Amino acid sequence: MKRIIWASILLGLAAILMPALFLRGQVEGMYEENYEPPLPAQAQQSPAPTEEGIKTPTEGRDSQILFRLSDNGSVRETNMEEYLPYAIAAEMPLSFGFEALKAQAVAARTYVLYCMENQNPKHPDGDICTDSGCCLAYLDEGALRGAWAAEYEENLETVKAAVLATDGQVLHYENSPILACFHSSSAGKTESGSALWADVPYLISVESPEREIDVPNFVTTVEVSADDFRETVLLLRENAAFSDDPSQWLEDVLQDDSGRVKSVLIGGVSLTGQEMRSLFALRSTAFTLEYKDGVFFFTVTGYGHGLGMSQYGANVMAKNGFNYREILLHYYPDTKLS
Ligand SMILES: [Zn+2]
Repeated sequence: MKRIIWASILLGLAAILMPALFLRGQVEGMYEENYEPPLPAQAQQSPAPTEEGIKTPTEGRDSQILFRLSDNGSVRETNMEEYLPYAIAAEMPLSFGFEALKAQAVAARTYVLYCMENQNPKHPDGDICTDSGCCLAYLDEGALRGAWAAEYEENLETVKAAVLATDGQVLHYENSPILACFHSSSAGKTESGSALWADVPYLISVESPEREIDVPNFVTTVEVSADDFRETVLLLRENAAFSDDPSQWLEDVLQDDSGRVKSVLIGGVSLTGQEMRSLFALRSTAFTLEYKDGVFFFTVTGYGHGLGMSQYGANVMAKNGFNYREILLHYYPDTKLS
């Protein structure tokens, strides 16, 4: 199963990341993006279960979970207690509800454990890296002191408290740490793993409560001239046929069950929603596309791939009185927190 998942992730992300990386990208504000899963070429065997059959040898109290962190080309050994506060600080604003921060701590811890069992060939010397485009975001002390200034000590205590309150707690499915994907915000529903590259039972589409009032830049627009639109599509589909009338280029848009774009038919060729997101630097695949007066207009809702926990959704749930367990089991159904 894991080999299939990683192979799917590799193929899916290759499709997402390869095309037109040189195209105009969006400036990603701090805290606005979450990681995409790593790109292991193939899974390795998981460690054998312990005699108890539940916990893997890598689990326990945070201070006991040792792993290798690849940080800008150098690798150092660290432990979960030292590492997590700086990852969570990079992934979630401190203005979020404390229960959301605790949920984030569990998701990040689980993700690291998953990576310890499934080596990422991008950094074979490290179990996890500090590149948010690969593993989890990470800000070191210097960066956080710069960002938080006089509030550094107080903020760090808050993050550490969220980690300590969930010390050693991990989400499992069938006794293994889950692929705890998360993302910034969803347009009403999260994405199903089967729609992307992670067809696992706990990554299914669920309702997510955040709305425009809850999320900065929840709805964004991207405008592309007809000429640029055609040239960009041709980068990926050189056999696309474009008539003289751009209003006829977009032939069909297919949505998946979560309301995101599954595929579009342009110039007689089909592109996936993920390919469109990559080509036009869209914040998500929850978009509409219209043409008017020589310009294509994308209207995009939410941010990120949409898998697993929505961070802004978690924040809304926390502020509505849900605790971190309820948040996690909502976004990762059928998992066990232990
Ligand atoms: Zn990585």
